Amino acid sequence: MLSAKHINKQYEGKTVLNDISVDFPDGKTTVILGPSGSGKSTLLRSLDMLVRPESGTVSFPDLSIDYSRPISKKDSFDLRRKTSMVFQNWNLFPNLTVIDNITTAPITVLKRSKEDAQTLAKSLIKEVGLAGLEDRYPSQLSGGQQQRISICRALAMNPEYILLDEPTSALDPELETQVLRILEKLCQQGQSMVIVTHNMEFARLVSDKIVFIEDGNKIYDGSTKEFFGNPTPRTKEFLSGIS
Ligand code: ADP
Ligand code: MG
Repeated sequence: MLSAKHINKQYEGKTVLNDISVDFPDGKTTVILGPSGSGKSTLLRSLDMLVRPESGTVSFPDLSIDYSRPISKKDSFDLRRKTSMVFQNWNLFPNLTVIDNITTAPITVLKRSKEDAQTLAKSLIKEVGLAGLEDRYPSQLSGGQQQRISICRALAMNPEYILLDEPTSALDPELETQVLRILEKLCQQGQSMVIVTHNMEFARLVSDKIVFIEDGNKIYDGSTKEFFGNPTPRTKEFLSGIS
């Protein structure tokens, strides 16, 4: 299990995450919900050190990062190995082909042979329905296709957790559906995931647990069933689209 405890983060003296503790169970999908600006991305990025909170810990059974202390190179490398981030705007390398986008990190970071990395990349590309596009450049793909490739790139690192920050919010609805189907499949395969999304239907369908944050405070942390089935006055208000 991935566990964040007592995470505090400030920007310019303003508290953005206020003593947030959340467990992200193994093999499950946790969805982080909340109004815009509530701290969702900051929390997600704190899990893999893209953001450095002032204090708090992020831990796995065999690794613990304490943000209030200096962090060794080895620990930060190990943390990055355990997680892979998929961004809203996919962030593929524009000068590399689809297959090179996927194989670069496995070859350089994991020291995989080029042949093994390419075999794995091809099977992942096939898995997301894009076989045949290996030698294209990102600019020759639609946004939805680019996002599917960026999911392959994350999976190729064989992380324990995949972290996704609004993976479909830059996509048209029909392209969004293709990406959501892939995430649904990963979820059924027991891939551990943490997803920030505004798509409530998707959250309800795939997640095992929901974390709702507002103004940097954790308001709800529990089962998806309870969140949607038995909302509190505040979560009900959120769900009805007021904010
Ligand atoms: P969300 O993802 O829920 O929309 P964020 O985590 O991006 O929210 O942001 C939470 C708050 O922190 C917002 O008020 C935002 O303006 C602020 N914030 C985020 N990143 C930075 C930054 N790099 N510098 C200053 N303020 C930031
Ligand atoms: Mg965000």
